[in-house]
Order: sequence, then structure tokens, then C-alpha cells
Amino acid sequence: MSCRRIDLHTHSLASDGSDSPVELVNKAASLGLAAIALTDHDTLSGLDEAVEQGEKTGVRVIRGIEIAVHDDFGELHLLGLWMPRPSKVMRSYLTTLRRNRLARNQAMLDALTAMDMPLAMEQVEAVSRGESLGRPHIALAMRDRGYVSSRKEAFERYIGWGGKAFVPRALSSPREGIELLRGEGATVSLAHPFLSRQMTESRLDALLRDFRAWGLDAVEAYHSTHSQQQVSLCVKLAAKHGLLLTGGSDYHGLNKEVIRLGVGTGSLRVPFVLLEKLLAFRLDRGLWI
Ligand code: AMP
Ligand code: FE
Ligand code: FE
Ligand code: ZN
Repeated sequence: MSCRRIDLHTHSLASDGSDSPVELVNKAASLGLAAIALTDHDTLSGLDEAVEQGEKTGVRVIRGIEIAVHDDFGELHLLGLWMPRPSKVMRSYLTTLRRNRLARNQAMLDALTAMDMPLAMEQVEAVSRGESLGRPHIALAMRDRGYVSSRKEAFERYIGWGGKAFVPRALSSPREGIELLRGEGATVSLAHPFLSRQMTESRLDALLRDFRAWGLDAVEAYHSTHSQQQVSLCVKLAAKHGLLLTGGSDYHGLNKEVIRLGVGTGSLRVPFVLLEKLLAFRLDRGLWI
């Protein structure tokens, strides 16, 4: 049945989405999605709940994660799909990421306080329910305090890249990120390559050659922010480098209202065959599905 829809990139309250893992899976079920991957930033904490709800509702829930890495051009995101319960190495990596996030969030709050916009960490924690707190939560708290009229304004003026209260995050190299996820036995995909404004065909070509050598398995060709032309470019370069394809909306619930589960801004359609190929690839290598 090739008409069944899938969405292999979604967020929940465990990071910066607005649906609980259970609500997210229920939504997928009511939309008739055959499968979703829950890929929260820097945390695996929503996965057990989501998988359990998937079993109840008949949605295949793939255990995922999204982590940010950094190279000379800036930030890139990696998706790990089929994440097992974390190894000791992974647990300590995630603990470090969360510790870094705490310190960085506090530094941004200090910068805001210095600009006469005092905000306590408790007020940021109050707008989140998960364990991976970040700028989306700070933006929400700033709006609630009336410092800005929208979250967009919070990012543009203060906490977005180059904003007056922006503090960068210490990130791993792409190689470290890929090897870490691969070490867990996950299938690793380069998320939304063209979300980075500096991305060009020749840069992506070079990048995929290196990443593939380090263990990258796939490219997220289908994404809410990709134009038809960018999708085609990803498909072409993935074929050139012998990589699989993944795709998803990057749904964040009310925290990114224009993006809807399964369909992105409306025209996203992630082919079901992508999932079949991913499953076959894993089975071929003796990996669990
Ligand atoms: P952090 O992980 O704390 O650096 O926050 C990154 C998250 O903030 C991303 O995953 C997006 O969900 C969100 N984000 C980044 N830039 C913007 C922006 N300009 N407007 C709204 N949300 C943004
Ligand atoms: Fe996000
Ligand atoms: Fe991302
Ligand atoms: Zn995402």
C-alpha cells in the first residue's frame, strides 16, 4: 500500500514540541499515518511512552533523536533512527549536552537581565515540561513576560544567531556525532541539509562524501523547508554517494504553527517506500527494527 503516509521527523514536549509523546502518536493515528519517528533534540526521554502508544494505536513509532553538530560553515543536524536504550557512552554524552544547555540558557538569561529584561530560570522551566530546554522556551517566557510581542521577535532581536543575547553552544564535530549515533546501532541521516543558508550543491556533495566515510547512512531529502528542487538535489546526491533517503515534517506542534504533522506546510509527501528501504537495509545488516 504505497498511499500510506509516514513522517520520520517530529518533536514532542520532551524537547521543543508542544504535544506530549502520547498526544503526538494519537494525532498520527487519527491522520492515518503508518509510521512516525519521534526525534526530539538531545533526549530519548519521550520514546518509551511514544512506542507504547504506537502499539496501542497501530502506528509504527521509530525511536529517534536529533542532535546538532558543527563544522566550519555552521550548525548541521543529525537524525539517529532506531535508537536503542542508551549505552553508557550515549548516556554520558546526553548528560553533558543537557549540562551545556543549562549553562548556556543561564548565560542568555544573564544577558537579558543586563538589558533590563530579567527572567528567572524557573520562568523558563515553567513553559516547558521536558528535559531538553532551549531557546524556544526562553522565547516563550520572554513573550509571556511582555518583553517581545512574539517568539519570532525574541529570536530576531535577542536570542537568534547574531542576536544581542545569543550565546553559542559547544557542539561536537560531524564525525563525532555520526560515530556516536552509529555506535548505538542507529541509522544516521543528515537532517534538512538546505535549512542551512550556506548550503550549495557542491558543498553538500563534498560533505556527503566525508560523512559517508564516517558512517552516515541517509539524507533527509523530504522536509517542510525543502523546495522541490532541493528535494531533487538531495535525491540525486544521495544516489551518487550510495545513501538512503529519509523525510519528515519537523513537526513541533504549536511551537511552529505552520508545520503540520505528516504534510508539513501542506505539500510534503514522504514516500512510504523510503521506510521499506530503511527496514530492508537494517535487516540486511542484522540490525533490529
Ligand atoms: P536551541 O537548541 O536551544 O539552540 O534552540 C534551537 C531551536 O530553536 C530549533 O530547533 C528551533 O526549534 C528553534 N529556532 C531556532 N531559530 C529560530 C527562529 N529564528 N525562530 C523560531 N524558532 C527558532
Ligand atoms: Fe526544534
Ligand atoms: Fe533540526
Ligand atoms: Zn527537528
